[in-house]
Amino acid sequence: MPGTSYAPTVNRLLAALPRNDRLSMIARCEVVPLVAPDVLFQPGERLRHVHFPVTALISLATPTPRSAGVEVGLIGDEGMVGTPLVLGIAVTPLAGIVQRPGMSLCIGAAAFTRELKARPALRRLLDRYLFVRMTQLARSTGCTRYHLVEARLARCLLMTQDRAHSNAMHITHEFLALMLGVRRAGVTKAAISLQRLGLIRYSRGDIVIVDRPRLEAAACACYGADRDTYRDVLGPPPATRRPRPDRGLPTPIPAASKGPAVERNARSG
Ligand SMILES: [Zn+2]
Repeated sequence: MPGTSYAPTVNRLLAALPRNDRLSMIARCEVVPLVAPDVLFQPGERLRHVHFPVTALISLATPTPRSAGVEVGLIGDEGMVGTPLVLGIAVTPLAGIVQRPGMSLCIGAAAFTRELKARPALRRLLDRYLFVRMTQLARSTGCTRYHLVEARLARCLLMTQDRAHSNAMHITHEFLALMLGVRRAGVTKAAISLQRLGLIRYSRGDIVIVDRPRLEAAACACYGADRDTYRDVLGPPPATRRPRPDRGLPTPIPAASKGPAVERNARSG
């Protein structure tokens, strides 16, 4: 999915809502700047906010006994963080960690629940999003167990590029290890392998994707399958979507933020 030509101005889920619902949701959200690697919530905590990222990337991780955890979701402008609230569950089993700094549209849990009850179109959209996430989670189980680290790293880099809308990105060793569920030495080995093939440039966490078509070919099939699931259930990305003047343009968000401080905890390790 070519992501470099599309500069996000609003979250894709919110942009997909009918105009009145979209404007109401955006009016109730506040624009907050997220800083990496802040921890938004830990497993077992009550969710106090729902995030609809715009330029920020949020990693969802599940704890594991012998490591810092493994990533089970990378959420950017295509998704939302706080899905348990869609199901009426207030406590999260996952950690939410800011992977890439940027802006997010943030709404309090109580206000989100009220909007969900009042707006059937929002409920239908987020039910479909939950289906996409469930499908992607199921797929990731097989991916982690059976696919090679190099192929999974290629998949992770493509997913990050799609959400960051940039060929260049900074991802620390720690985050790559979290994304792949492997030790840092394994990350280094896989990154060097992709670099020797001429697919990426990699130096101390600075990654440039230099040959996206070949990186897609090197990635495991889960990347394309996840992308197709999202497209089939929620629609194509904006760059390939036909103009729909009946819905109006997404409302740009303001550059400055006066929103509430997102809960920040120092990340251990
Ligand atoms: Zn895979």
